[in-house]
Amino acid sequence: MTTEQLQKQLVSIREKIQQALEQAGRKGETVQLCAASKTQTAQTVEQAAELDIDLFGENRMQELVEKYAVGAYGSHPVHMIGHLQTNKVRQVVGKAAIIQSVDSTRLLETIAQEASKQNLVQKILLEINIGGEQSKSGIAPEQLPFLLEQAENCNHVQVLGLMAIPPKCQEEKQVRQYFSQMYQLFCQARDHYCTKSKMEILSMGMSGDFPLAILEGSTMVRVGTALFGQRQYP
Ligand SMILES: *Cc1c(COP(=O)(O)O)cnc(C)c1O
Repeated sequence: MTTEQLQKQLVSIREKIQQALEQAGRKGETVQLCAASKTQTAQTVEQAAELDIDLFGENRMQELVEKYAVGAYGSHPVHMIGHLQTNKVRQVVGKAAIIQSVDSTRLLETIAQEASKQNLVQKILLEINIGGEQSKSGIAPEQLPFLLEQAENCNHVQVLGLMAIPPKCQEEKQVRQYFSQMYQLFCQARDHYCTKSKMEILSMGMSGDFPLAILEGSTMVRVGTALFGQRQYP
């Protein structure tokens, strides 16, 4: 894609974000745009980094490390948004501004250990499996208070919010319900379970459904296809 094409898609995404915010009565609020750049080359990412996006999101450790090493993200932060195996934590801690996909005690502790070694505080989101799908990562909503408490006991980790990928739904109404449940959980956590953590980021909404996610309270959308076009898997 040319930079002009990317720019055109971006303008359209930004407009839809704005419309959804207005429709939701959230005027004056902002939603962060995470460019989901899995499978995109370092060169494409560099092009996108020139545009008005807030951050990048990667799914695979290897891609994140490679693009990070060549400076493809420019001045933008990159977040880890894909499932992270514990044996890949070392390479991601300190590079990912936020690891969005934390969904187990074991992963949490591995991140905390590595962050301690690097003498930094790793920011994270907790991933919720809101549709209760076997095939998806994320914790069950009922496990949130427990994992949050564990995270608060780790000095080298700070929770900044929640992330979710709801099930694919035929009906808009259905997917909105999942987003709405996520928002309720986010508010509960913010108002009742948090002591040290900050509930600031609710990361939900992708190319097919980000306006609906914003209507239900999303503060960060992760958009791939609508920005970069169909992914080509090697
Ligand atoms: C790929 C991906 C996205 C973006 O998906 P699109 O439908 O292409 O916008 C968002 N979040 C995660 C975790 C992803 O893996």
